[in-house]
Amino acid sequence: MAGKIRFAPSPTGYLHEGHLLSALYVWAAAKKWNLHVHLRIEDHDRGRTRQAYIDGIREDLEWLGFEYDSYSIQSERTEIYQGVLNKLAEQNFVYPCTCSRKQLEAENPKSETGEIIYQGKCRILADSLKLKEEGGSGSILPPHNLRFKIADKVINWTDYRLGDFSENPAKQCGDFPIQDREGCWTYQFAVCVDDLDQEITHIIRGEDIRNSTARQIALSETICQVSGRPYNRPLYLHHALIVDASGKKLSKRELAHSIRQDKEAGISAETLLGRVVFKAGFQNEDSPIALHDAIDKIATSL
Ligand code: GLU
Ligand code: ZN
Repeated sequence: MAGKIRFAPSPTGYLHEGHLLSALYVWAAAKKWNLHVHLRIEDHDRGRTRQAYIDGIREDLEWLGFEYDSYSIQSERTEIYQGVLNKLAEQNFVYPCTCSRKQLEAENPKSETGEIIYQGKCRILADSLKLKEEGGSGSILPPHNLRFKIADKVINWTDYRLGDFSENPAKQCGDFPIQDREGCWTYQFAVCVDDLDQEITHIIRGEDIRNSTARQIALSETICQVSGRPYNRPLYLHHALIVDASGKKLSKRELAHSIRQDKEAGISAETLLGRVVFKAGFQNEDSPIALHDAIDKIATSL
């Protein structure tokens, strides 16, 4: 095999058409570039994860005919995440942030996309305490998350479809959490640890997560640095999202409509695949298509 790609759904719901399009891209790339396919269940968000969704995602993938070469689930990898966190903390890349939601809103500017750009209030506090106390006081902290100290630096990266980007995560979002107040690992952290540890060479996902990429490159570089290992940047491809007839992104309601509901209503896998391939613009009619034909259609577009 020439490398490894992953499909990484979050089990906070059943699979919907958006997932199905991502899966088609992942399996198409695997076919075109001869890649190992890894299924990763991203259940880092303990509050929104349901066992029924985990089981449902695996059953629906099987029903659709998607086969994978390996499997992992984030909830079984907590020691690995803890080990990486310890390494980051030893080298002073992590600090506790006690800011409440309200404080974050009131004290920080927002980006054009409405995202808070954390100005590092607790970083400054943590650094000054460290200087005074050398090794910490052992005092008990109020509820806090752990943030990653992101370097103020432009990341240049290339998307296989969209071209070149120059982005500075310090300006886009500032230091971001790697563990939340409840002790859950965040998406950004778990995804970086997993992509490195699982030796992922190709990352294909929807355009909606594109602005995570520079952050993930920055965090991955630092994880490799503190772990004393080389960093091989994966290939990134962010695919277009499915749009409705008027060209708008799928609504929450349409995205909530699951493949499972259609399957239970007696709709065939080929009909569902055909619908998604049609909506994504890879065939002119909303007609059934076999999985291998759908994969081939997308593979030739890569
Ligand atoms: N778990 C993420 C999602 O379902 C995808 C993460 C990724 O591909 O990096 O949206
Ligand atoms: Zn803070």
